[in-house]
Amino acid sequence: MAYLTGPNYPPVLDNTAETERLVQTVKDWSIANGLAIRPPPAVAADADGILAIPAPVTLFPSPFPKSCFEEAKAIQTTYNELYARISRDEEFLGKVVEEVAGGDEFIANLWQVHQRVKGEGYVQPLTLGLFRSDYMVHKDGDNLQIKQVEFNTIASSFGGLSSKTSLLHKHLAATEYPLLNTPIPSSSLNLPFNDSAKGLAAGIAAAYRAYGPSLQDRPACVLFLVQDGERNVFDQRHLEYALQSEGIPVFRLPFSQVLQHTTLGEGRELLYRPPHNPGHVFEAAVTYLRAGYGPGDYTSPDAWEARYQIEKSKTIACPSVLTQLAGMKKVQQVLATPETDNEQAPAALRRFAPSEEAVPRLLKTFTNIYPMSPSTPAGRFAQSLATSPEHSLRYVLKPQREGGGNNVYRSAIPAFLSKTPKEHWGSYILMELITPPAVRNVILRNGKIERGGVICELGVYGTCVWDRVTGEVKYNEEAGYLLRTKGEASEEGGVAAGYGCMDSVCLV
Ligand code: ADP
Ligand code: MG
Ligand code: MG
Repeated sequence: MAYLTGPNYPPVLDNTAETERLVQTVKDWSIANGLAIRPPPAVAADADGILAIPAPVTLFPSPFPKSCFEEAKAIQTTYNELYARISRDEEFLGKVVEEVAGGDEFIANLWQVHQRVKGEGYVQPLTLGLFRSDYMVHKDGDNLQIKQVEFNTIASSFGGLSSKTSLLHKHLAATEYPLLNTPIPSSSLNLPFNDSAKGLAAGIAAAYRAYGPSLQDRPACVLFLVQDGERNVFDQRHLEYALQSEGIPVFRLPFSQVLQHTTLGEGRELLYRPPHNPGHVFEAAVTYLRAGYGPGDYTSPDAWEARYQIEKSKTIACPSVLTQLAGMKKVQQVLATPETDNEQAPAALRRFAPSEEAVPRLLKTFTNIYPMSPSTPAGRFAQSLATSPEHSLRYVLKPQREGGGNNVYRSAIPAFLSKTPKEHWGSYILMELITPPAVRNVILRNGKIERGGVICELGVYGTCVWDRVTGEVKYNEEAGYLLRTKGEASEEGGVAAGYGCMDSVCLV
């Protein structure tokens, strides 16, 4: 779009030799600096688990409106507190769960875990949130505004690789772009500093310190619960290294092995015995879930027992079950939907916003989201939109799921609903599509170049430690950003899912 970029940015790259040089530089820099992932089986067989490939990236930072970037960063601590407050309101979350649980066994099971622990009493009042609020730019006349895609409360990923992507583009701006056929002078790009890896690690470290001394002089540690066969392992490793450089012991434990390697102490401490040396006992001060966010990780009753063990223990969970549930798309919808036409702001938003001034500011970042239950006028209206071949084109239908690949888009919505029992429609929400202005860029994925129009999604990380009982917020920080970019034609944009790529912002 002309308002974002001049015709010379990003350069067309029509010279093969200069494209090859840029690609080689990016490939080498990425591996040399850990901007990498494990290869998918389709790219390389890796029986010994030794291979790494560069993460998919754009060759240039994408132009992004400065005012939007600054507002997204500035509102993050308000969002952190908003979601900390929602997480503390069990009654509110219970009602939201009730609305979706009929058609959603996974959410119902999570709620069960919370109910079981509540029955015995929680022993840890603190929760750690490593959040990421995702936005796209919406153009309203001449006015550019961030609109929230979703708010992630569990396993918010790419903070480790994102700071590296910013560094990659800074490196290219200093060394390569000035030498192109259409040179970009290094001083012409406004590339903000991005410390997402350190920011997220600092949040974990704050919770680790807030845990207090462990009993019997047991060393305290941080446990990363991970998925088997995780390909995005280096993203996680960057956070681990940042913690270890502060002298904090960190262990990676597959979610599927929690019951094998942890037990509860007398005070329900979560005790971890490293499999390579079970004589050592660590007390897990913080348990950071990079797994357990979707049904795929709960294929046996043991997996639910594992989640229950963590929730019941004294470890500071990142997140707790209630905090995970606060991240349901249904919660986002309830915050955004006024119950009556003449309501100024939705009641739930007014109830949970940290201050009165925060309400209009948060409201500005919402786009229209509707419930799909027939019990309210908004829900009946949404059902009529979603079943219409014409109107559904402007919407995305979302279930209560994370990790990409779960949504139903545009023309596929009516057909999807027609094969979904009507009594389960309420477990979805209907959201207006945000249509950000397309910018041009070049994506490098698996050594191949893709050129053309791209769509960017900005994520801002936030870290928060709060006391679920007293409500005290002990730590609340904005923690850097992520820019993910996908080809214009792609509906989903997850990097891990294969259609999106890492990017950084060039403020305009
Ligand atoms: P998940 O939790 O699985 O990441 P999201 O709500 O982020 O679910 O949806 C996945 C992707 O779908 C987003 O990254 C974005 O590319 C696209 N998407 C979701 N909601 C919208 C929307 N309202 N407008 C445009 N694109 C959207
Ligand atoms: Mg998302
Ligand atoms: Mg998500």
